[in-house]
Amino acid sequence: MIHPVSPGSIFMLPHGTRIVHKLQDFLRKEYARYGYQEVMTPLIYKKDLWETSGHWQNYMEDMFMVKSGHAHDCTHSHDDKDHSIDTNEGLFGLKPMNCPGHCLIFDSTPKSYRDLPIRLADFSPLHRNEASGALTGLTRVRRFHQDDAHIFCTEKQITSEITSCLSFVDHVYSAFKFPHYDLTLSTRPKSHYIGTIEEWNHAEEALIQALNKSERPWTIKEGDGAFYGPKIDIMVKDSSGKSHQTATIQLDFQLPQRFGLKYIDKNDEAQTPVIVHRAILGSIERMMAILIEHTGGKWPFWLSPRQGIVIPVATPFSDYAKKVADHLSLGTNTTSDNAHYFVDVNNSHDRLNKMIRQAQLQQYNFIFVVGQKEMDEGVVNVRTRKGDVLGTMTIEQVRDMFSSMTTKLE
Ligand code: ZN
Repeated sequence: MIHPVSPGSIFMLPHGTRIVHKLQDFLRKEYARYGYQEVMTPLIYKKDLWETSGHWQNYMEDMFMVKSGHAHDCTHSHDDKDHSIDTNEGLFGLKPMNCPGHCLIFDSTPKSYRDLPIRLADFSPLHRNEASGALTGLTRVRRFHQDDAHIFCTEKQITSEITSCLSFVDHVYSAFKFPHYDLTLSTRPKSHYIGTIEEWNHAEEALIQALNKSERPWTIKEGDGAFYGPKIDIMVKDSSGKSHQTATIQLDFQLPQRFGLKYIDKNDEAQTPVIVHRAILGSIERMMAILIEHTGGKWPFWLSPRQGIVIPVATPFSDYAKKVADHLSLGTNTTSDNAHYFVDVNNSHDRLNKMIRQAQLQQYNFIFVVGQKEMDEGVVNVRTRKGDVLGTMTIEQVRDMFSSMTTKLE
């Protein structure tokens, strides 16, 4: 049988996609608070852009190339020189990172020191040609999504921006109830780096300052930095004790120079901004794998792809069950908010105990049982995944409870 997808490409099924969107929506709300603006950028760029960024020279073997399917018009000349130019014209790189695209956005209009910092966020899919031996499940794939962002700032703003990134990480990881995460500083690689040793020392010093300010313990990984700058990596342990790199905060003095980025300072002079590359979740696919292990599939309500299920005690109550499920997920004409929740209905006509047991095994956060009494009164009988019976509630009361749990990230 022909395998239609390349190794390391994964399908995200409906329930997985629900969780990804919930994670992205959570981040989007925080972006408003932390002063980020979301952008959408192309997937492929001409070879020239990757030469400017340095990826062509330093990262090529980890990239996928895309060749135009269009046959070039060579009728005007057939000598070798012209032909080689034509070959390169149709060559593109599939982006492994968003940074070069964000540099183009920064550079599209003149900037003053008053505009900085500019924080651009992007959920684009990224492709990296990871060695096939390194591919594992969701944790290392060739096509993935990051909650990526780039902060363009002045040198003076570096420490406060890194401090803000570290506090963003802490806020998100507290919401996930990770008991512990490790911070490491990765310094200049021994070879394959761009820029001078003085620039690297300066960048490493700024990160050390922010790490010390965070008052969390951190360790150092000599020589493990990216080719363009030092970085802070955040590692989370899964339930088996294996550490995964998740968040990353990378300082970059090189890329702004390579792209010739400028802003006008207070004295009307052109200055080069600094870039902070940062991701809080890191690879969203990898974070999903860690969260699946961390929760054991028992998703908290706010992230759950199965938030509730309505179970009729007998066939005559199936229509009422369906109506209740619709009202719980979408609200009614009279409900105050228009939030959407994932509430299903069980139409299997199995025995009640069996349906309840099945709903618990499927990890529905709430089970709503309806029979004659509930239909007469327009209510539901509520129990939790753990088997706690909350008793009779109206649709309004249930939706208020949903709303409060979502707000409190419960
Ligand atoms: Zn970047």
